[in-house]
Amino acid sequence: MSRPSTVPTGAGPAGPQIVTIDGPAGSGKSTTAAVVAERLGLRHLDSGALYRALTLALVRNRIPSERWPHLDRGELAALDLRLDPTRGGFEVLLDGAFPGAELRSPGVTEKVSVLARVPEARARLLELQRSAPTYGGVVADGRDMGTVVFPEAPLKVFLTATLRTRARRRLRQDGKEEVPLAVSEESARIHERDSRDEERAVAPLLRPPGALVIDTTELTFEEQVERIVRAAAKALGSAR
Ligand code: C5P
Repeated sequence: MSRPSTVPTGAGPAGPQIVTIDGPAGSGKSTTAAVVAERLGLRHLDSGALYRALTLALVRNRIPSERWPHLDRGELAALDLRLDPTRGGFEVLLDGAFPGAELRSPGVTEKVSVLARVPEARARLLELQRSAPTYGGVVADGRDMGTVVFPEAPLKVFLTATLRTRARRRLRQDGKEEVPLAVSEESARIHERDSRDEERAVAPLLRPPGALVIDTTELTFEEQVERIVRAAAKALGSAR
């Protein structure tokens, strides 16, 4: 598989218009990235949705997860996964259709970090992700956006928050009650996913060198968006 050594930005001679936002589960990356992209007039690339869609494709094809580490390039390439540019972002198409809520189903959420450890699967998605800026500037969120996918991005952000804060946010996002037992159970699930993402050998969750690190525990959503938009205006200034 050919991996470009430089990022195809599609941004023209002015330079790359790429902001990366990485962080652990529940740190608010995706919602933040979507609003930041809108404010900056860029597209939002939700890389987690791609990992989820590839996981769903394997589940639909009834390929047991024990086989995932042994899938070869050809088998992964045969899965019909595409990135369709929309006005504000991208839609992930699986077999030509948007999978919708299935991407966030518990079955997919439970298995996605197993797939994320498979180097061939990451290579398959790397190509798709790097094709995104050919349509224009992007705000890309995930686990390795600033370290692996777009290391040349002018602004790299790393979002953090305490485990309990992240668990509470996830429950709220899913419309569930934030009672103590639910918070503990959600914390345990997130902790397990964080450990898998941080400890895997390939593209582990890391703070990219030179990243703007924002602890969002005590910040309102508007405050965290504002910080990134301000930093982006500065970093992308010469590229806009
Ligand atoms: O962000 P989201 O929770 O949708 O991501 C789902 C999973 O996909 C993560 O837990 C992680 O295992 C994987 N992922 C990844 N690298 C990315 C984005 C997501 O490994 N850039």
